[in-house]
Amino acid sequence: MIHELPKLPYKMDALAPHISEETLDFHYGKHHQAYVNNLNNLVPGTEFENADLETLIRKADGGIYNNAAQVWNHTFYFNSFSADGRPIAAGQLADAINDSFGSFDNMRDEFNKAAATLFGAGWAWLALDDNGKLSIVKESNAGNPLREGLKPIMTCDVWEHAYYIDYRNKRP
Ligand code: MN
Repeated sequence: MIHELPKLPYKMDALAPHISEETLDFHYGKHHQAYVNNLNNLVPGTEFENADLETLIRKADGGIYNNAAQVWNHTFYFNSFSADGRPIAAGQLADAINDSFGSFDNMRDEFNKAAATLFGAGWAWLALDDNGKLSIVKESNAGNPLREGLKPIMTCDVWEHAYYIDYRNKRP
């Protein structure tokens, strides 16, 4: 199975000024692509040759896990943006946010705090458990909540490569 870099659902300059075209050139065009290339170099000849990304995230370790998770995480992250903006959570998601955090604003504050305070490289996640409860999860490096049986709902990449071109050291 050959893993491929998925197309973005918007143009490279569509997220400016929040995320510049230069950041996307590097983040999507070079970093995301590199994780895809690394994965395709690592899996041939292993038990994971025909495994999809979610299987790799649940079962692999070391370089295969790291690169598979980074491919999945970046695809999920880039697909969560829209050039046109989207309404805030409604319906079932809004209910789950209110049940779990009290309000949308509380969820946003907790999510932002988790992303800002995560030490080193990693990902902040909003994730859903089997009981319909949402939580904020901080994961280092390539960490993905699928590995703990949670369903990812939203993520923020806090690796420096995600923001350093546009914001330098100002992660928050
Ligand atoms: Mn990244």
